[in-house]
Amino acid sequence: MSEQWQQVQTVAETWSPEQVLRWAYSTFQPDIAMASGFGAEGMVLIDMASRLNPDFRVFTLDTEFLFPETYELIDRVEKRYGIKVERVYSNLTPEDQAGLYGPALWSRNPDQCCRLRKVEPLKNKLSELRAWVAAIRRDQTPTRAMARKVEWDAKFQLVKINPLASWTSEKVWSYIRQHKVPYNPLHDQNYPSVGCTHCTRAVLSGENPRAGRWSGFNKSECGLHATTVEPVATLVGIAASCEANET
Ligand code: SF4
Repeated sequence: MSEQWQQVQTVAETWSPEQVLRWAYSTFQPDIAMASGFGAEGMVLIDMASRLNPDFRVFTLDTEFLFPETYELIDRVEKRYGIKVERVYSNLTPEDQAGLYGPALWSRNPDQCCRLRKVEPLKNKLSELRAWVAAIRRDQTPTRAMARKVEWDAKFQLVKINPLASWTSEKVWSYIRQHKVPYNPLHDQNYPSVGCTHCTRAVLSGENPRAGRWSGFNKSECGLHATTVEPVATLVGIAASCEANET
């Protein structure tokens, strides 16, 4: 079994996103869920998952600061795919946060704001699961460049599945057009990456697609996607728990 696990990560790099998802669902269902911010990549994965697994699960980190267009897209996703998106909230309402940390924390300490509204809620959610699916691509940021299609997430202590790790933005949009997948209308208004209203702006011609996120801060990630992963060794370590679940 350990040898099989050692091979999975290597072989998975040759798989299509659909093959990665099929393997992930057959291995971890029902203890697997997709995290989605409903960006273009996330929409591709939702569409793929809907074709592979009628019981696929999607959750979103609702910071309560999302764009109206994003909330409308979530409603459309629920109708089109017949699913209920699970909304995961911070323990603190925006008012609680302002009372404890002062107004507009995102403008003074976005790392702390992201920790309160995204990272801690994600940590709680992932503690229920054995695997999660993320929509990252390697060419999005330097911290994502080492992502594997199947990896051990050392930060949150479960398996992480990145089916689109090797895809380009062009492939994502080609899939969206081909399958008529709904997407956030802000993408057509120079918002290639959409997050919270307070921390997202349109990008200018020639700017990096993620330049509109936390503009003015030396920050390119929420803290959800660890920069250090343990590619094989720890993945092998989950074999025992998976064997236990199979018996
Ligand atoms: S993206 Fe901005 S508003 Fe949203 S949680 Fe992070 S710092 Fe707060």
